[in-house]
Amino acid sequence: MNAFENFNLSSQLSKAVDELGFEKPTPIQTEVYNIILSGKDVVGIAQTGTGKTFAYMLPLLRDIKFSKQVHPRVLILVPTRELVIQVVDQIESLTKYLTIRTLGVFGGVNINTQKQNLVQGTDILVATPGRLYDLVVARALQLKAVKKVVIDEVDIMLDLGFRFQLTNIFDFLPDRRQSIMFSATMTDDVDVFIDDFFIAPAKIAIAVSGTPLNNISQKCYPVKNFYTKVNLLMHLLTDKNEYQKVLVFVSKKKKADSLFEALEENHGSETGIIHSNKTQNYRIKAVKQFDKGINRVLVTTDVMARGLDLENVTHVINFDTPNFPENYMHRIGRTGRAEKEGKTILFYTTKEQDAKEAIEKLMDYEIPLMDFPSEVGISKELIPEERPKDNSPNPNRNIKTVSRGAAFHEKKDKNKKTNQGGSYLRKMKTYKKPQTRGDKIMNRRKKRK
Ligand code: AMP
Repeated sequence: MNAFENFNLSSQLSKAVDELGFEKPTPIQTEVYNIILSGKDVVGIAQTGTGKTFAYMLPLLRDIKFSKQVHPRVLILVPTRELVIQVVDQIESLTKYLTIRTLGVFGGVNINTQKQNLVQGTDILVATPGRLYDLVVARALQLKAVKKVVIDEVDIMLDLGFRFQLTNIFDFLPDRRQSIMFSATMTDDVDVFIDDFFIAPAKIAIAVSGTPLNNISQKCYPVKNFYTKVNLLMHLLTDKNEYQKVLVFVSKKKKADSLFEALEENHGSETGIIHSNKTQNYRIKAVKQFDKGINRVLVTTDVMARGLDLENVTHVINFDTPNFPENYMHRIGRTGRAEKEGKTILFYTTKEQDAKEAIEKLMDYEIPLMDFPSEVGISKELIPEERPKDNSPNPNRNIKTVSRGAAFHEKKDKNKKTNQGGSYLRKMKTYKKPQTRGDKIMNRRKKRK
């Protein structure tokens, strides 16, 4: 009996799955199978190792028919060449008894060989976004036949700076298509991307449990602003016995850089930083020094911290409050490993209060609140995003601090409406509420003009 019996696979596909020797489908495979078959757009939050490649490949392969046409009908985008190779491998193991052609293309190797391979035709194309974009621009590849597009590890792709290529690739895709996306973490960038290119996607989250491990103790500090957070962190770090191996999470690269700069003065010799704008060598060195205990502190972004295998982290400091509660769970899971006791501290400003409450709701647990230590200085200096928006002619407005208030939270740019008098209304008249992907694309083109 086949453990994947309920999937109603063809005999060829079933045989290939049998040979892989899996006992049963993983949770993500069970969850997404029917939804992908139904043709709906899908957003899956799942990490590597959950079996997500087969989760999207099985329904896609059940659907795909033999064809002699040259242009690919299934496009799979992944961030790195290693993943291209791995995904092609997995697809080939599933298509062993099917007449389906699969091709992988990635950067860093001769493009001409890839162009020649494309001329032969393929059904499934697995690609990194940069090389794919180059091939399309060079007219070596047409995307008009793509019916299904999968983007895997979108968070990493966007963090690596592939937004431009991704956006352009999506503009080349036919409107009538199914879009499927997987990401391990939700970030603001990913959210915007979903908004732009997905139509009413089914959202499936796997692997994030809202139950933190019992051996992780949590607390939080209300903090006025960025530089006060720096002061508080420096104050905590003075206790070297307690804070032995500290992973500090910041959600944006630029902020991580500012924090690192601020820490350098007092803790420069014991602090490292990693994010995707740092070179690979720099990152490897920073992680090594932290892991070996040469550096006591490592500043990181959410996306970069994935895939790090760090031992004995004593403290996870959430220097900012993640907008997506799942990210908090990922972050704090970096401490308290292997039964050891771990500690985590969250800093939050008034603006981050809502995000903190969302985390508490997910965990069904109120993070114990600490008094702000009286010996820590409260900074008046504000970083640009903390300054009130300057929409009045009064030049003194900029130096006022943000007032506290339950209703105060920053709107996303796309949600900000400014009073533009009649012309705004006129513009809105030409804007069609998107019901189809074509409407979305038309609106985006209008916006760009
Ligand atoms: P992925 O999350 O796609 O990177 O897959 C991680 C690993 O899980 C791969 O090596 C797969 O071969 C394996 N895998 C996928 N599906 C299953 C399953 N149902 N049971 C056991 N292992 C699986």
